[in-house]
Amino acid sequence: SIPLSFFGGIGGASKKGILVKGSNYLEALASTEIVVFDKTGTLTKGVFNVQEIHEVGISKEELLEFAVYAESYSSHPISSSLKRFYQEEINNERISGVEEVAGHGVIATVDGKVVMAGNGKLMEKMNIPYNNEEIAGTVVHVAVDNIYGGYILIADEIKEDAAEAIHGLKAADIKQTVMLTGDSRNVGEKVARELGLDRAYTELLPGDKVDKLEEIMKEKSINGKLCFVGDGINDAPVLARADIGIAMGGLGSDAAIEAADIVIMTDEPSKIAAAIKISKKTKIIAN
Ligand code: ADP
Ligand code: MG
Repeated sequence: SIPLSFFGGIGGASKKGILVKGSNYLEALASTEIVVFDKTGTLTKGVFNVQEIHEVGISKEELLEFAVYAESYSSHPISSSLKRFYQEEINNERISGVEEVAGHGVIATVDGKVVMAGNGKLMEKMNIPYNNEEIAGTVVHVAVDNIYGGYILIADEIKEDAAEAIHGLKAADIKQTVMLTGDSRNVGEKVARELGLDRAYTELLPGDKVDKLEEIMKEKSINGKLCFVGDGINDAPVLARADIGIAMGGLGSDAAIEAADIVIMTDEPSKIAAAIKISKKTKIIAN
């Protein structure tokens, strides 16, 4: 039988916007040793502002328009951010043959031209010579009919409560806080440093994230648990693999909410430490 106080715990959590899908997850949370975070949309807002458009051979306007049109069907936060910046109406009749390359970017036919928009990995994969100098930020490179057209430099912001979130976990005796991201090394390491995370792994493809999680799992003690916190964009398999998968419910995808054991409705990472606190109290009462 389930101790009554577990229901109290779940009820208390839900009042804080933390939806726990079963008492077993609340109980497991009390034994958390390692918390692994996704970056974009989890520790950062997932809202990128355009900082700079660096065009090569075409105009800034053309570069932006090709990128926005190619991105038009993507559900990645980069896509919505570029659409928001573009502001104009998008004519879907100009777009066909859209392909999303997870962890890389998108390829689509726009006005009959093949447009690629994504990171350096996408340019390398498609054999497009590009500007690969160290650029301090997240970059969307654009190629039109196999010719490099330049890049758009974009920047995301750290969530208001993210530093407090990591601090709260340390205060709750969590042994390791880790970040996994597909973003570039300079961006990922900067965020990790600013937040005081113990470690960060960057430039990971969606499949690499699962492999890395498996590796980190081995660091737990026998009864210890690992939580993964993500927004479900390219990390639903990682959410499913962790002992406890926690999804951001507001910005997060339906796939994330489906794959997760716990959903944070307010998208605030500081709710993880709050949930662990509730789980520990619930356990004491249950014993
Ligand atoms: P994360 O959430 O850790 O940033 P993702 O796997 O979602 O990881 O994305 C990794 C990287 O792949 C992004 O930082 C970006 O460079 C590139 N990328 C993915 N999807 C897109 C997209 N739709 N448009 C442009 N770049 C993209
Ligand atoms: Mg993500």
